[in-house]
Amino acid sequence: MKDPDSKERSALKQKLKREAAKLGINLTGFANVERWEEYGYTAPEFYPQSIWPWARTVMVMGVQIFLPMLETTPSVVYSELYNTTNRMLDETAYKIANLLNTFGYRAHFFPRDCYGDISVLVKKPEAAFSHVIAGYYAGIGTIGMNHTLITKEYGPRVRMVSVITDAVITPDRIIKSNLCVGCMQCVKNCPVKAFTPSKEGLAADMDKHKCALYHQQLKGEFRYPCGKCTAVCPVGEDRKIYGRSSVTEDGIRHVRSFGSMTGGQFSVS
Ligand code: SF4
Ligand code: SF4
Repeated sequence: MKDPDSKERSALKQKLKREAAKLGINLTGFANVERWEEYGYTAPEFYPQSIWPWARTVMVMGVQIFLPMLETTPSVVYSELYNTTNRMLDETAYKIANLLNTFGYRAHFFPRDCYGDISVLVKKPEAAFSHVIAGYYAGIGTIGMNHTLITKEYGPRVRMVSVITDAVITPDRIIKSNLCVGCMQCVKNCPVKAFTPSKEGLAADMDKHKCALYHQQLKGEFRYPCGKCTAVCPVGEDRKIYGRSSVTEDGIRHVRSFGSMTGGQFSVS
């Protein structure tokens, strides 16, 4: 394992960002693995360094979900888009990890939907590795009421993948102001009423089993997944392109700081 000085770290970071952008990635962020311990939003057995003790940095990459396609959900159109983004993310993460290998670093990626089959999620709706949490630690966005990563650029309409490496790379700053405006559109529009807003105004409690069961039904109808709670979220610059109502940066009410809305209240995949 190499341990570069800060100039080399910065050069490597810029190189990786450029490469990811060339491969079609919209958002990129870097987190040092110590953040998993520092914030403790996942159980220790799910820390990257618990699985791969040599891990030092997690590079998170995101691609947008096109709003007009998502708005057709549940549909085969959105289903194809979902599959396309998964393929693209996994392939890109493979290429980035491969590139890091050629520079002499250990690297690999944690794939997208890594649960085998929806029936597994119905039995145990838990993610082995949360790209949402990784995205938060990497400064890409904040966790919303709907347990997704809310970004300034695309609201929650982002899919992500993570590359794990022993390269020491300067981490990006965590976004402290909550991008979720607490409008409850996600809660109101969930077709199976999976969310129960908590009394404290924190991230909603989520019945992941209900959500997974609905997804199992949609899979049988070839129009999986749902994603309604991301389609209706008013946050995101992407909405402007399509003339949809949006919450601009100025209009965002910082109703809660992220620190006060966590405390293990949310669970994400
Ligand atoms: S994905 Fe669909 S079913 Fe699941 S929580 Fe969101 S809106 Fe509800
Ligand atoms: S729909 Fe509203 S409450 Fe839900 S995540 Fe988006 S901003 Fe937050």
